[in-house]
Amino acid sequence: MSAQILDGLTVSKLIREEVRQRVDALRARGVEPRLDVVVAAQDPASLAYVRMKRAWCEKAGIISESYAVDESWTQSKLLDLIRELNANPKVHGVLVQHPLPAQLDESEVLLALGPEKDVDGITPASLGRLTADLPGFRCATPLGIMTLLKHYGIDPAGKRALVIGRSVILGKPAALMLLQLNATVTIAHSRTHDLPERCREADIVIAAVGRAEMVKGDWIKPGAVVVDAGYNKVEGRSGDVGDVDFESAKEVAGWITPVPGGVGPMTVASLLSNAVSAAGG
Ligand code: NAP
Repeated sequence: MSAQILDGLTVSKLIREEVRQRVDALRARGVEPRLDVVVAAQDPASLAYVRMKRAWCEKAGIISESYAVDESWTQSKLLDLIRELNANPKVHGVLVQHPLPAQLDESEVLLALGPEKDVDGITPASLGRLTADLPGFRCATPLGIMTLLKHYGIDPAGKRALVIGRSVILGKPAALMLLQLNATVTIAHSRTHDLPERCREADIVIAAVGRAEMVKGDWIKPGAVVVDAGYNKVEGRSGDVGDVDFESAKEVAGWITPVPGGVGPMTVASLLSNAVSAAGG
């Protein structure tokens, strides 16, 4: 038996179409949605990622300015920029692309960003709102995962969910979102014992580790939902490789996300959707 595919590419297209319509409605009211990006000037991976995000923004009709921050920037110059963006009513969302140049304190920058503009949902204020079950912007990747599950009618309520990874932008908020959806949640990390065994108990597995094909097919409970957020470069292989060994896992799982075409496009779609919401759409 082969698992059914959680097709993030197709679902993300539906969301982007909806975003486009919301943008048109905003423009008809004279509002031009704008998402600005702060990015390290000398980090090729970040620049490529930001270019891709800008292209998606343009396609959706969202304006985007980027600010390339280099080694000459001081913390106070960057904080002044963040304050300016906070105060600028034409800017609806601000994305601070990780990592910033080493001389800058990223945590302080995120603390300075207004939660109403934090469309990536990664500031302490936004994460606090998630923890406190208050409305606010949710982190784009875990939000994309929840939207994908919902699209396929997968209700986490009462299910055992295992999130592998506890990063602030992915594993931890994914676990909190599953908890809000009434799953019984376990969070695994590098110190977890018996990870394959914990995995075999789970009805829903979210792999957010950053280790190519770590989760094997024989770790998966038959019929489980397997969501692979991993993007890993592997020497000698083209493209990105997930955290799950797709070939063996798809033979056991009930549902599975491919890499690419699963969580990645859902992240971008969630970000655009949050940006339009920030503009009042
Ligand atoms: P991260 O900050 O490096 O966190 C990785 C987590 O995995 C940590 O909590 C770590 O545990 C845990 N871990 C590492 N080795 C482990 C092991 N052997 N067993 C169990 N847990 C282990 O990574 P991240 O930013 O969350 O990203 C995770 C993956 O998702 C990466 O492949 C990244 O490229 C991808 N990603 C994808 C998207 C998307 O849009 N699809 C967005 C963001 C990230 P400790 O806390 O104990 O160190």
